[in-house]
Amino acid sequence: MNHPQEILLAEPRGFCAGVDRAIDIVERALAKFGAPIYVRHEIVHNTYVVNDLKAKGAIFIEDLADVPPGATLIFSAHGVSKAVQEEARARGFHIFDATCPLVTKVHVEVAKLAQEGYEFIMIGHKGHPEVEGTLGQLDGGIHLVEDVADVARVQPAQTDKLAVVTQTTLSVDDAAEITAAVRARFPKVREPKQQDICYATQNRQDAVKLLSPQVDLLIVVGSPTSSNSNRLRELAQRMGTTSYMVDSAAELRAEWFEGIARVGLTAGASAPEVLVQQVIERIKALGAVSVRKLSGIEETLKFPLPKGLKLDGAAQAPGDGE
Ligand code: SF4
Repeated sequence: MNHPQEILLAEPRGFCAGVDRAIDIVERALAKFGAPIYVRHEIVHNTYVVNDLKAKGAIFIEDLADVPPGATLIFSAHGVSKAVQEEARARGFHIFDATCPLVTKVHVEVAKLAQEGYEFIMIGHKGHPEVEGTLGQLDGGIHLVEDVADVARVQPAQTDKLAVVTQTTLSVDDAAEITAAVRARFPKVREPKQQDICYATQNRQDAVKLLSPQVDLLIVVGSPTSSNSNRLRELAQRMGTTSYMVDSAAELRAEWFEGIARVGLTAGASAPEVLVQQVIERIKALGAVSVRKLSGIEETLKFPLPKGLKLDGAAQAPGDGE
């Protein structure tokens, strides 16, 4: 067989509640206040989403010095450090915070435990904006570890009050292994009651675990900067399924599908469904005749929008507000 026959779709896949809310915040700010709206960092890590919002009048910046006085500024879904929050306030911007509430939950936990004298071990990827934002909740006292080897090297000032926090979009399996290493080295370490890895990351990885053994190839729709999308591709690879991540259908290569009977398809939490549909069309053009959706958890979570972004005449969703 030279061409794919069937496409199996992971469920759930694509947008999570935090991404939906973040994009909605930028769109509503554009509708209510007009362009330009400034956004610190890519609102979510997806090229299509960012280009679409740019076309509508959003300007993405990294340095607050690039935002003119009095402008409307939105913090991305990844969250920001206290220093960035303070600088934005001091510069007098009209601020909306699109930080995912599940990232804010980690920030709140860090602040609360720090008051009680805790030091932290954070499991995460160095340089990722979410990690920068969480590290920046305190002036020191959070030690970043990326792998088990880092756990052996970390040197907290004391070990009686030590807590673990994690980035929300890690590999569930890697995080469990690193947490076990932390526990083995620091038996008194406090772990979060509910893990910091978010429901969307967990559900998308569970769906790939179900899908991978049933397919010869897994395509993940996601941008290279998207942490949770990269973890999906890695997970499939670890399970022995060849996997590629693509930003759009244009990146698919015909040779990937040669001799492949079943193709699995999923999308990271920041990748819109329109891209998934374009990928399906392209794989169909290469020969696939059917598309089957696997059953999986139905996600119904929705986060409320910040105050001040209700559109005139639009119905306010129950619980809307902060
Ligand atoms: S991936 Fe998780 S933490 Fe990130 S925006 Fe989505 S729900 Fe929030």
